[in-house]
Order: sequence, then structure tokens, then C-alpha cells
Amino acid sequence: MSLAEHRRLSLWWDTLPDDLVGDLRPPLEGSTDADVAIVGGGYTGLWTAYYLAKADPSLRVVVLEARTAGFGASGRNGGWASALFPTSLDKVAAESSREGAVALQRAMFDTVDEVGRAAAAEGIDCHYRKGGTITLARTPLQLERAQHDVEAFRSWGFGEDDAVLLTADEARERLGATDVLGATYTPHCAAIHPARLVRGLAQAVERRGVAVHEGTKVTAIEPGVVRTERGDVRARHIVRATEAWTSQLPGYERDIAPVYSLMLATEPLPDEVWAQIGLRRGETFNDHRHLIIYGQRTVDGRFAFGGRGAPYHFGSTIRPEFDRDPAVYDELWRVLRDLFPVLSGREVTHTWGGPLGIPRDWFPTVAYDTDTGIGSAGGYVGDGVASSNLAGRTLADLVRGEDTERTRLPWVNRRSKRWEPEPFRWLGVNLGLRVMGSADGVEARTGKPAKRAELLAPLLGGH
Ligand SMILES: Cc1cc2nc3c(=O)[nH]c(=O)nc-3n(C[C@H](O)[C@H](O)[C@H](O)COP(=O)(O)OP(=O)(O)OC[C@H]3O[C@@H](n4cnc5c(N)ncnc54)[C@H](O)[C@@H]3O)c2cc1C
Repeated sequence: MSLAEHRRLSLWWDTLPDDLVGDLRPPLEGSTDADVAIVGGGYTGLWTAYYLAKADPSLRVVVLEARTAGFGASGRNGGWASALFPTSLDKVAAESSREGAVALQRAMFDTVDEVGRAAAAEGIDCHYRKGGTITLARTPLQLERAQHDVEAFRSWGFGEDDAVLLTADEARERLGATDVLGATYTPHCAAIHPARLVRGLAQAVERRGVAVHEGTKVTAIEPGVVRTERGDVRARHIVRATEAWTSQLPGYERDIAPVYSLMLATEPLPDEVWAQIGLRRGETFNDHRHLIIYGQRTVDGRFAFGGRGAPYHFGSTIRPEFDRDPAVYDELWRVLRDLFPVLSGREVTHTWGGPLGIPRDWFPTVAYDTDTGIGSAGGYVGDGVASSNLAGRTLADLVRGEDTERTRLPWVNRRSKRWEPEPFRWLGVNLGLRVMGSADGVEARTGKPAKRAELLAPLLGGH
């Protein structure tokens, strides 16, 4: 795939300035030695490289990327740098402690700011706007869920500065959608241009002396050595940052299930349309329906809007054609026009998608094994834009043998169970997706909560 073809990967790739696309970086040529070899050039790999190089400029850090930096979800996502963690606080606390769960959530709040701080410090113009997230309630049942969510969040000691319930008028002032009965609002989210961040990060780590090899596919990870199609990298420390593609690496087939999220973007909309819709402060938005949707107003005045709904593919297969699903795009466009009828007659200019990574227990992990020298992070379930930054900082601490507040957070060095072998994995994941997909219809028809979806809800977060 040429770099020109990469522009078709997403709206974000298509709107990158030329200097952030550039030429393909040189692939690895033959075998070499390094202190740290990082597999994967998305946010996780690049943030890890960034914080390592910043903490110890003498370290020889090599990033090996099969395609190009930002080819994966990092160059295609919804651009919510949010404090969302896909695992419920109850579940985090059950595995660790109440204090641990709260510390993790507070670290996520701070991470939203750290993404902005680090981008600014490196001169990366990723259109960072910390406008928070508004989550609309558009049915009485959704309003009940909104009230419950805020109360539940507050019960952990978080305050009005962290989450509030908005009245219908307050909600409409921020976001002029149809049928608004109220909303929840949290300030802990920034809207960004995802590809500007990941491509800018690749340049930032290079400026700090990190070698980034694109077009270099890793075929195996063993203690002390990363094998590629173009030679081996011998390294004391190895970090696997391959998210959805983890399932394609020998030995890791059942660690992460790749599930697709799909997006569309409209043409840039005129000011009079935005005057009716709002999102003036760079808020990201969604609503309290079961099937996940997410959106933002881009700096060039478009809607970038996405959702789940595409199936999981048997055997954790990942193929370019799975990024595109006309039925899902049609449904996303219908949902967006239902929210904002003023969009009728406007054009959708971009459609795209990509795989995100789901661990068996929906619980992301940062891990480092001091015996083998192999570390990893991921399984973000579609909430990885900010959490990959926290993961990168934490991996840098772990690799350097530092004991810090971060390395004591409860997502560090835990293990998720592996996924079932096929066909059970295929049946289980798709059943979950189907139940959530049908739950909103059930609620609309009956006016009652969809029980099966409520049972699955704590498991099914993310974008
Ligand atoms: C459509 C979509 C919308 C999303 N929206 C949001 C959102 O709004 N907010 C949010 O928080 N999260 C969102 N996510 C999830 C988020 O984008 C990811 O969690 C995050 O980008 C993960 O970063 P990563 O670096 O771990 O993985 P990736 O960005 O997927 O990077 C992995 C990299 O590893 C490379 N690689 C894989 N295998 C190999 C190999 N064998 N050898 C060498 N290189 C390899 C890949 O080419 C890829 O570049 C979304 C995801 C998608 C797909």
C-alpha cells in the first residue's frame, strides 16, 4: 500500500498535511541490537518510545511497524481522548481495592491533560480541544440510566467537576439534537485529530533518537529477540504494542479479539448549521443507547461519527475489506440524521473503519515480565486514545525498573483469561454484539429496559 493509498484509510489520514504523511520510513535492513525493541507504531508503541527516550536519552530504542506509523486504530479512531476505562470501577475494585479503582480513574483524568501537554511540548498540532463529553438521554429509560450513572460515579467520591446531570435545556444549549430529555456531562475528554497525533508522535520520537522502521513486519517475539521478515532485533527489553493485530502473532492468537468499529464524516458544514447544532466548545458526544455511538465536530467543521455494529470475523481474521460495511454506514448516517435532521441533503464524504482489541474480560492490561524482558499493553476495547498514553508512561517505568504510582495501578501486571477456541469465540462475541444491537429496538417497542443488554452492559464499553 503506497502512502497515497494510506490517505484512504480515514478522514484523518486524508486531511493530514503533506509533511505529516512524508515518505515511508526505511524498513529494517538486516539484524541489529537495541536496548528496547517495540513492536507496533501506534499510540502505545510510540508513547512508550517517547517516555523512554525522554527519561533516558542514552537508551537505544527501535520501533518496528509492519505498515506505517498510524496504520492501525491510532490513525482511524473517533478522536476522543477520554478518561473512559472500559472496565467498571466495581470490577476494578473487586480485583484490587476501592483505592486502586479510584487511583486508576484519577490517573485517567490526568492522562487527558497529559496528552495535551505532551503534544503541545512537542509542537504536535493535533487539534486538541478539551471540551468534555455530553451523553444525551433521549428516552425516559435513557434518562434513568443517566441519573443512575451520575449517582454511581459520585458514590466513588468524584464530584460535580467530574460528572453532572444536565437538564434538557442545559443539554440542548450544548447540543441541539432531537428528543433531548437531559444528559450527562463530564469535562474529562478532549477531541483530537487522531492521525495528526500519531504521525506527529512518530516525528517526535525520531527527534529524540528513536529508530522507527516502517514496512517491517514482526514474525515472532522471543525473550531477547524480535524476528522480522527483514532481520532480527536483539534487545534486552521487548514491548508488544500490536492491539487488534496481536491475534495474528504466533503464540498470542487467543489473547485479543479484533472487533470492528466503523465511522463516517460529513462534508464541512456551514456556520448556520453549526449554530443550530452547537458543540461550540469542542465537546465530544454520544447518547445513552446501548449500541455504542460516538461523534465530534472537527476543526474543519465536519461531523466525524462512528459506532459498532459490524460483526466479529471467524478466527479473529483481519482483512482490509472488513473496514467497510455499507449496511453499517447506512445505519450510522440514519442515526446521525435522526439526531440532527438539519443534516438532510448534506453529503457524507468519508467512510472507514478498523479493528480494535478486546480481551476476554474487557479489562485492558499493561504488563512487563522481568524474567523474559517482554512487556505489552492494550486490550483497550475502543478506549485507547488516552489510556495508551498512560500505558506508554507506565511501560517506560517498568522497563527502566522504576517503582512509581503508575506501576502500582491495578491494570498493571494482571492477566486476562484467553478467549475460547473457535467456533465458541465467534458465537460468544457475535452474540454479545447482537444483543446490544437489538436492545435499543426492544426498549423502543416495550418502553422497558432490555434485561439481557443490562446484564452485558458492564462488559461492553468502548468505541
Ligand atoms: C473506528 C475506531 C474508532 C475508535 N474511536 C476511539 C475513540 O474515539 N477514543 C478512544 O479512546 N479509542 C478509540 N478507538 C480505539 C483506539 O483507536 C485504540 O485503542 C488505540 O488507537 C490503540 O492504539 P495501539 O497503538 O495500541 O494500537 P494500533 O493503533 O492499532 O497500532 C498497532 C500497530 O501495530 C502494528 N502491527 C501489528 N502487528 C504487527 C507486526 N506483526 N509487526 C509490526 N507491526 C505490527 C499495526 O500495523 C499497527 O500500526 C477507536 C478504534 C477504532 C478502530
